[in-house]
Amino acid sequence: MPVTDSPSARYQPTIVAGPSGVGKGTVIAALLARHPQVWLSISVTTRSPRPGELDGQHYYFVTDAQFDQLVAERGLLEWANYSTARYGTPLAPVTEAMAAGRAVLLELDLAGVRQAQQRLPEVRTVLLAPPSWEELERRLVNRGTETVTSLTRRLEIARAELAAADQFDRVIVNDEVERCLAELVEFMGLGAYH
Ligand code: 5GP
Repeated sequence: MPVTDSPSARYQPTIVAGPSGVGKGTVIAALLARHPQVWLSISVTTRSPRPGELDGQHYYFVTDAQFDQLVAERGLLEWANYSTARYGTPLAPVTEAMAAGRAVLLELDLAGVRQAQQRLPEVRTVLLAPPSWEELERRLVNRGTETVTSLTRRLEIARAELAAADQFDRVIVNDEVERCLAELVEFMGLGAYH
């Protein structure tokens, strides 16, 4: 069931998806730094924090039992299994940010995109794509955050994500952060940045 009756007055909520290693984190961090009207949803996840990741900032890191409880309470807008963990979007902060007129941004996997489209019919979707497959592999390996098993799994999922490109409203190639950011800013209707 949709969670809102009418589209937000100024901004339509936007979902950014894209393969692990494509640079979503870097592009989104730059967007948030320059556009304070953008509100990024902080997801809950059952995966362990990577070095440098902070609870409540990058994710809310929760146990399986806590995640189960959120699902049972219908506290999540959407949730999905990705690789070996579960990820979900807390519902209440999203509806509050939309009501406050913020430009809501969600970063989701493919299953999450489909669920969010059902619940937020006005949502617009962006796929961040790498300049080439070889470049994606290079970025993910160089990031150095994954085990060999996790890396293999993430690359498998990446193939499916890139194959679904035609299901997105816009595909933006992350060849260069500034150029990619400018295209995302234009797509979200945020105006020129400084
Ligand atoms: P990572 O482990 O690299 O932080 O994230 C793995 C994947 O989970 C990424 O594709 C990311 O977009 C997705 N993801 C992060 N948060 C959520 C969420 O709340 N819901 C869903 N469906 N996917 C998420």
